[in-house]
Amino acid sequence: MEIAHRKKARLKHLLETWTLEQYLEATEKLLGYQLQRAPFDPAAMQNPSQSLPHTHVGVYPQKQKGLNYVGVAVPVGHISPKQMIRVAEIADLYGSGEIRLTVWQNFVIPNVPDHFVETVKKALRKIGFATQQSNLRSGLIACTGNAYCKFAQADTKGHALQLAVWLDKRIQLDQPVNIHVTGCPNSCAQHYMGDIGLLGTRAKVGGESVDGYHVFVGGGFGANQAVGRQVFNAIDFESLPPLLEKMLRGYLRHRTDGETFQAFTARHDLNMLQAIFSNEE
Ligand code: SF4
Repeated sequence: MEIAHRKKARLKHLLETWTLEQYLEATEKLLGYQLQRAPFDPAAMQNPSQSLPHTHVGVYPQKQKGLNYVGVAVPVGHISPKQMIRVAEIADLYGSGEIRLTVWQNFVIPNVPDHFVETVKKALRKIGFATQQSNLRSGLIACTGNAYCKFAQADTKGHALQLAVWLDKRIQLDQPVNIHVTGCPNSCAQHYMGDIGLLGTRAKVGGESVDGYHVFVGGGFGANQAVGRQVFNAIDFESLPPLLEKMLRGYLRHRTDGETFQAFTARHDLNMLQAIFSNEE
């Protein structure tokens, strides 16, 4: 296996060449001890948090009486060293010193007693972090993008933030719709498992090559695991915010009571989805 090939520096490429057993054997050799094997149990993989109607942003009571966890929104995962240090201090002072990361590029401070909740919220606000946000923003993630990654076809983080501003002004959702913005097929932001997945590409506008995205819908994980289907091809970024607005409006107009975006897309074929999502109504 050629491990020096930067483009192939992904576990998925290694597993294309090696078997799982070969991979485990090499890992154990490096670790110097044997990993425990657990029998595959699909029921055990159904994490209860996957069916929660939120993505942990906000204050929620824990099982332990009088304790709460505080979920904090970090727009597209950007956090400065100064903020990190202060977050650590807040966790030490008012929690148990623990900080947990979420798959939505946010973090959680657990074990905060009731009487410290407001203080923690205020301290976080002071350093620029909200403990409340729209259902759109709480499920928005983006890969590194062309600011730091040479594979990127687009400015994923910048575009994700612009999308959030556009959509938040125009649409209100009563449940999260996850949007995953990823800059190339390596898919660090896992576009294929978002409700809406955006995969960076080059698009043509007036003969010029500009940042653009392929648009996928219907991905999911856990109990709702599914690979998203591509519904639109190479949309230039300027056209993307109004397109996503139309898609979400189409979903809100045509869904059944309480239906999730993923379930809505799953019961329509691609032609029907394109028609619903292109309608200006
Ligand atoms: S998905 Fe994004 S961060 Fe990952 S390799 Fe591609 S452009 Fe870079």
